[in-house]
Amino acid sequence: MSSYRRLLLIINPKAGVKKKESTLTDIILTFSDHYYETIVCFTEAAGDGTRLVREHMDDSIDRIVCMGGDGTLSEVIAGCRRYSWDKPLGYIPAGSTNDFATSLQLPLTPVEAAERAVKGRPHRHDLGSFNGRHFIYTASCGIFTRASYETSQKVKNVLGHMAYVLEGIKEIPQTHSYHMKVVVDGHVYEDNYIFVSICNTFSLGGVMNFDEKTVDMGDGLFELLLISKPKDISQLRTIINALKEQKYDTPLVTFLQVDQVLVNCAEKPDWSLDGEKAEGQENCEFSVIPGGIQMIY
Ligand SMILES: [Mg+2]
Repeated sequence: MSSYRRLLLIINPKAGVKKKESTLTDIILTFSDHYYETIVCFTEAAGDGTRLVREHMDDSIDRIVCMGGDGTLSEVIAGCRRYSWDKPLGYIPAGSTNDFATSLQLPLTPVEAAERAVKGRPHRHDLGSFNGRHFIYTASCGIFTRASYETSQKVKNVLGHMAYVLEGIKEIPQTHSYHMKVVVDGHVYEDNYIFVSICNTFSLGGVMNFDEKTVDMGDGLFELLLISKPKDISQLRTIINALKEQKYDTPLVTFLQVDQVLVNCAEKPDWSLDGEKAEGQENCEFSVIPGGIQMIY
Protein backbone atom coordinates (compact mmCIF):
# COMPACT_ATOMS: atom_id res chain seq x y z
CA MET A 1 0.00 0.00 0.00
CA SER A 2 1.21 3.46 -0.88
CA SER A 3 1.59 5.91 1.98
CA TYR A 4 0.91 8.71 -0.48
CA ARG A 5 -2.19 10.84 -0.09
CA ARG A 6 -3.93 12.27 -3.13
CA LEU A 7 -3.99 15.94 -4.03
CA LEU A 8 -6.08 17.54 -6.75
CA LEU A 9 -4.30 20.51 -8.36
CA ILE A 10 -6.62 22.73 -10.40
CA ILE A 11 -4.70 25.17 -12.61
CA ASN A 12 -5.89 28.09 -14.68
CA PRO A 13 -3.15 28.14 -17.36
CA LYS A 14 -4.24 31.58 -18.62
CA ALA A 15 -4.01 33.36 -15.29
CA GLY A 16 -1.42 36.03 -14.87
CA VAL A 17 2.09 36.25 -16.16
CA LYS A 18 3.30 33.04 -17.79
CA LYS A 19 5.44 31.17 -15.35
CA LYS A 20 8.54 29.27 -16.24
CA GLU A 21 7.88 25.74 -17.47
CA SER A 22 9.86 24.28 -14.62
CA THR A 23 7.45 25.79 -12.09
CA LEU A 24 4.84 23.07 -12.44
CA THR A 25 7.49 20.36 -12.04
CA ASP A 26 8.81 22.09 -8.93
CA ILE A 27 5.31 22.37 -7.47
CA ILE A 28 4.57 18.69 -8.06
CA LEU A 29 7.96 17.76 -6.57
CA THR A 30 7.12 19.85 -3.50
CA PHE A 31 3.86 17.98 -3.06
CA SER A 32 5.64 14.67 -3.62
CA ASP A 33 8.23 15.55 -0.94
CA HIS A 34 5.30 15.82 1.44
CA TYR A 35 3.82 12.48 0.35
CA TYR A 36 1.15 13.76 -1.94
CA GLU A 37 0.43 12.16 -5.27
CA THR A 38 -0.80 14.99 -7.53
CA ILE A 39 -3.65 14.83 -10.01
CA VAL A 40 -3.34 17.83 -12.32
CA CYS A 41 -6.20 19.35 -14.27
CA PHE A 42 -6.53 22.59 -16.22
CA THR A 43 -9.43 24.99 -16.58
CA GLU A 44 -10.33 26.01 -20.13
CA ALA A 45 -13.47 28.11 -19.80
CA ALA A 46 -15.40 30.08 -17.21
CA GLY A 47 -16.94 27.83 -14.57
CA ASP A 48 -14.39 25.05 -15.05
CA GLY A 49 -13.01 25.49 -11.53
CA THR A 50 -16.38 24.39 -10.17
CA ARG A 51 -16.83 21.63 -12.77
CA LEU A 52 -13.40 20.11 -12.10
CA VAL A 53 -14.14 19.87 -8.37
CA ARG A 54 -17.34 17.97 -9.18
CA GLU A 55 -15.64 15.63 -11.66
CA HIS A 56 -12.58 14.73 -9.60
CA MET A 57 -13.75 15.04 -6.03
CA ASP A 58 -14.13 11.79 -4.14
CA ASP A 59 -13.18 10.40 -0.73
CA SER A 60 -9.69 9.47 -1.93
CA ILE A 61 -8.78 13.14 -2.43
CA ASP A 62 -7.18 14.58 0.71
CA ARG A 63 -6.51 18.07 -0.51
CA ILE A 64 -7.49 20.42 -3.29
CA VAL A 65 -5.04 23.12 -4.36
CA CYS A 66 -6.04 25.89 -6.73
CA MET A 67 -3.44 27.69 -8.87
CA GLY A 68 -4.72 30.80 -10.63
CA GLY A 69 -6.18 34.18 -9.84
CA ASP A 70 -8.94 35.16 -7.45
CA GLY A 71 -11.59 34.27 -10.06
CA THR A 72 -10.38 30.67 -10.35
CA LEU A 73 -10.20 30.35 -6.58
CA SER A 74 -13.74 31.65 -6.34
CA GLU A 75 -14.93 28.94 -8.77
CA VAL A 76 -13.11 26.18 -6.90
CA ILE A 77 -14.60 27.36 -3.60
CA ALA A 78 -18.05 27.39 -5.20
CA GLY A 79 -17.44 23.74 -6.17
CA CYS A 80 -16.27 22.78 -2.67
CA ARG A 81 -19.38 24.37 -1.16
CA ARG A 82 -21.79 22.93 -3.69
CA TYR A 83 -20.46 19.39 -3.43
CA SER A 84 -19.88 19.56 0.35
CA TRP A 85 -16.12 19.04 0.19
CA ASP A 86 -14.90 20.41 3.51
CA LYS A 87 -11.23 19.47 3.72
CA PRO A 88 -8.50 22.15 3.62
CA LEU A 89 -8.09 24.05 0.38
CA GLY A 90 -4.69 25.37 -0.71
CA TYR A 91 -4.08 28.35 -2.96
CA ILE A 92 -1.14 29.15 -5.23
CA PRO A 93 -1.81 32.71 -6.43
CA ALA A 94 -0.93 33.14 -10.11
CA GLY A 95 -3.34 35.80 -11.31
CA SER A 96 -2.78 39.45 -12.10
CA THR A 97 -4.75 40.69 -9.14
CA ASN A 98 -4.36 38.59 -6.05
CA ASP A 99 -6.21 40.67 -3.49
CA PHE A 100 -7.19 37.64 -1.53
CA ALA A 101 -3.67 36.19 -1.53
CA THR A 102 -2.33 39.56 -0.41
CA SER A 103 -4.83 39.61 2.42
CA LEU A 104 -3.75 36.13 3.53
CA GLN A 105 -0.10 37.16 3.15
CA LEU A 106 0.52 34.16 0.93
CA PRO A 107 3.96 33.94 -0.66
CA LEU A 108 3.76 35.05 -4.28
CA THR A 109 6.43 32.56 -5.36
CA PRO A 110 4.56 29.49 -6.61
CA VAL A 111 6.83 26.90 -4.98
CA GLU A 112 6.68 28.64 -1.60
CA ALA A 113 2.89 28.91 -1.87
CA ALA A 114 2.79 25.20 -2.80
CA GLU A 115 4.71 24.39 0.35
CA ARG A 116 2.19 26.36 2.43
CA ALA A 117 -0.60 24.44 0.71
CA VAL A 118 0.72 21.18 2.17
CA LYS A 119 2.55 22.33 5.30
CA GLY A 120 0.40 25.25 6.48
CA ARG A 121 -2.29 25.40 9.14
CA PRO A 122 -6.01 25.28 8.34
CA HIS A 123 -7.98 28.50 8.84
CA ARG A 124 -11.74 28.93 8.68
CA HIS A 125 -12.85 31.83 6.50
CA ASP A 126 -16.21 33.44 6.10
CA LEU A 127 -17.83 33.46 2.68
CA GLY A 128 -20.32 35.91 1.29
CA SER A 129 -23.60 34.94 -0.31
CA PHE A 130 -24.96 37.34 -2.93
CA ASN A 131 -28.40 36.39 -4.21
CA GLY A 132 -27.41 32.81 -3.42
CA ARG A 133 -24.06 32.94 -5.24
CA HIS A 134 -20.90 32.51 -3.16
CA PHE A 135 -17.97 34.86 -3.14
CA ILE A 136 -14.80 35.07 -1.09
CA TYR A 137 -13.77 38.65 -0.68
CA THR A 138 -15.78 41.20 -2.63
CA ALA A 139 -19.13 41.98 -4.16
CA SER A 140 -19.00 45.44 -5.69
CA CYS A 141 -20.86 47.71 -8.01
CA GLY A 142 -20.08 51.03 -9.73
CA ILE A 143 -16.71 52.54 -10.67
CA PHE A 144 -13.65 50.27 -10.37
CA THR A 145 -16.03 47.34 -10.75
CA ARG A 146 -16.50 47.32 -14.50
CA ALA A 147 -12.76 47.64 -14.98
CA SER A 148 -12.23 44.44 -13.02
CA TYR A 149 -14.22 42.25 -15.36
CA GLU A 150 -14.02 44.23 -18.60
CA THR A 151 -10.27 44.76 -18.77
CA SER A 152 -9.01 42.17 -21.23
CA GLN A 153 -6.89 39.35 -19.84
CA LYS A 154 -3.89 40.65 -21.81
CA VAL A 155 -4.15 44.13 -20.32
CA LYS A 156 -4.70 42.62 -16.88
CA ASN A 157 -1.51 40.61 -17.25
CA VAL A 158 0.64 43.49 -18.40
CA LEU A 159 -0.68 46.22 -16.20
CA GLY A 160 -1.80 44.17 -13.26
CA HIS A 161 -3.02 46.39 -10.49
CA MET A 162 -2.36 49.59 -12.40
CA ALA A 163 -5.05 48.76 -14.96
CA TYR A 164 -7.63 48.67 -12.21
CA VAL A 165 -6.44 51.89 -10.63
CA LEU A 166 -6.22 53.94 -13.83
CA GLU A 167 -9.47 52.74 -15.34
CA GLY A 168 -11.20 53.61 -12.10
CA ILE A 169 -9.75 57.06 -11.66
CA LYS A 170 -10.31 58.36 -15.20
CA GLU A 171 -13.98 57.47 -14.92
CA ILE A 172 -14.72 59.54 -11.82
CA PRO A 173 -15.53 63.00 -13.28
CA GLN A 174 -18.20 61.77 -15.69
CA THR A 175 -19.01 58.63 -13.79
CA HIS A 176 -22.49 57.26 -13.56
CA SER A 177 -24.12 56.89 -10.17
CA TYR A 178 -26.94 54.63 -9.08
CA HIS A 179 -29.80 55.66 -6.89
CA MET A 180 -29.88 52.97 -4.24
CA LYS A 181 -31.56 52.06 -0.99
CA VAL A 182 -29.20 50.05 1.14
CA VAL A 183 -30.77 48.45 4.22
CA VAL A 184 -28.57 47.42 7.16
CA ASP A 185 -30.10 46.41 10.50
CA GLY A 186 -33.35 48.17 9.66
CA HIS A 187 -31.55 51.42 8.81
CA VAL A 188 -31.93 52.71 5.25
CA TYR A 189 -29.04 54.47 3.53
CA GLU A 190 -30.35 56.18 0.40
CA ASP A 191 -28.31 58.23 -2.06
CA ASN A 192 -26.76 58.32 -5.53
CA TYR A 193 -23.75 56.05 -5.16
CA ILE A 194 -20.79 55.73 -7.50
CA PHE A 195 -19.37 52.72 -5.68
CA VAL A 196 -20.75 50.07 -3.36
CA SER A 197 -18.68 47.25 -2.00
CA ILE A 198 -19.29 44.45 0.49
CA CYS A 199 -15.95 42.88 1.23
CA ASN A 200 -13.82 40.79 3.55
CA THR A 201 -10.30 41.77 2.51
CA PHE A 202 -7.49 44.18 3.29
CA SER A 203 -7.04 45.30 -0.31
CA LEU A 204 -9.43 45.96 -3.16
CA GLY A 205 -7.95 45.92 -6.65
CA GLY A 206 -4.95 47.83 -5.39
CA VAL A 207 -7.29 50.86 -5.28
CA MET A 208 -8.32 50.71 -1.67
CA ASN A 209 -6.75 49.35 1.42
CA PHE A 210 -8.51 48.64 4.66
CA ASP A 211 -7.19 48.79 8.18
CA GLU A 212 -5.72 45.43 9.21
CA LYS A 213 -7.05 45.98 12.74
CA THR A 214 -10.60 46.32 11.44
CA VAL A 215 -10.73 43.50 8.95
CA ASP A 216 -10.92 39.90 10.18
CA MET A 217 -11.68 37.15 7.68
CA GLY A 218 -13.33 34.94 10.27
CA ASP A 219 -15.34 37.37 12.42
CA GLY A 220 -18.67 36.70 10.71
CA LEU A 221 -18.70 40.26 9.37
CA PHE A 222 -18.00 41.88 6.02
CA GLU A 223 -17.16 45.55 5.52
CA LEU A 224 -19.68 47.65 3.61
CA LEU A 225 -18.40 50.73 1.79
CA LEU A 226 -20.77 53.22 0.13
CA ILE A 227 -19.34 56.14 -1.84
CA SER A 228 -21.77 58.90 -2.81
CA LYS A 229 -21.47 60.78 -6.10
CA PRO A 230 -19.33 63.89 -5.62
CA LYS A 231 -20.98 67.09 -6.84
CA ASP A 232 -17.73 68.92 -7.50
CA ILE A 233 -13.97 68.53 -7.41
CA SER A 234 -13.83 69.53 -3.74
CA GLN A 235 -16.18 66.69 -2.77
CA LEU A 236 -14.15 64.31 -4.92
CA ARG A 237 -11.03 65.33 -2.97
CA THR A 238 -12.87 64.75 0.31
CA ILE A 239 -13.74 61.23 -0.84
CA ILE A 240 -10.22 60.42 -2.02
CA ASN A 241 -8.77 61.71 1.26
CA ALA A 242 -11.26 59.69 3.32
CA LEU A 243 -10.25 56.53 1.43
CA LYS A 244 -6.55 57.28 1.67
CA GLU A 245 -6.65 58.13 5.36
CA GLN A 246 -9.23 55.44 6.13
CA LYS A 247 -11.17 58.06 8.08
CA TYR A 248 -14.77 57.94 7.04
CA ASP A 249 -15.96 61.09 8.83
CA THR A 250 -17.79 62.50 5.82
CA PRO A 251 -21.39 61.80 4.77
CA LEU A 252 -19.97 61.09 1.30
CA VAL A 253 -18.43 57.83 2.50
CA THR A 254 -20.21 55.25 4.63
CA PHE A 255 -18.22 52.42 6.17
CA LEU A 256 -19.96 49.75 8.25
CA GLN A 257 -19.45 46.18 9.41
CA VAL A 258 -22.36 44.04 8.36
CA ASP A 259 -23.65 40.48 8.28
CA GLN A 260 -26.70 41.17 6.16
CA VAL A 261 -27.48 43.81 3.54
CA LEU A 262 -30.37 44.45 1.18
CA VAL A 263 -29.73 46.64 -1.85
CA ASN A 264 -32.58 48.01 -3.90
CA CYS A 265 -31.84 49.72 -7.21
CA ALA A 266 -34.38 50.13 -10.01
CA GLU A 267 -31.56 50.45 -12.56
CA LYS A 268 -30.36 46.87 -11.90
CA PRO A 269 -26.63 47.55 -12.28
CA ASP A 270 -24.29 44.61 -12.78
CA TRP A 271 -22.12 43.57 -9.85
CA SER A 272 -18.69 42.07 -9.68
CA LEU A 273 -18.21 39.05 -7.42
CA ASP A 274 -14.47 38.50 -6.86
CA GLY A 275 -13.88 40.19 -10.24
CA GLU A 276 -16.45 38.10 -12.15
CA LYS A 277 -19.60 39.68 -13.54
CA ALA A 278 -22.92 39.04 -11.81
CA GLU A 279 -26.05 40.07 -13.70
CA GLY A 280 -27.85 43.00 -12.05
CA GLN A 281 -31.16 42.61 -10.25
CA GLU A 282 -33.46 45.17 -8.69
CA ASN A 283 -33.14 43.60 -5.24
CA CYS A 284 -29.88 42.10 -4.08
CA GLU A 285 -29.54 40.21 -0.86
CA PHE A 286 -26.23 39.72 0.87
CA SER A 287 -25.45 37.51 3.86
CA VAL A 288 -22.40 35.95 5.51
CA ILE A 289 -21.72 32.21 5.63
CA PRO A 290 -19.57 32.09 8.78
CA GLY A 291 -16.55 29.81 8.43
CA GLY A 292 -17.80 28.73 5.02
CA ILE A 293 -14.42 27.54 3.75
CA GLN A 294 -11.31 26.00 5.23
CA MET A 295 -8.14 27.41 3.69
CA ILE A 296 -4.65 26.10 4.42
CA TYR A 297 -1.67 28.42 4.46
MG1 LIG B 1 -14.67 39.82 8.36
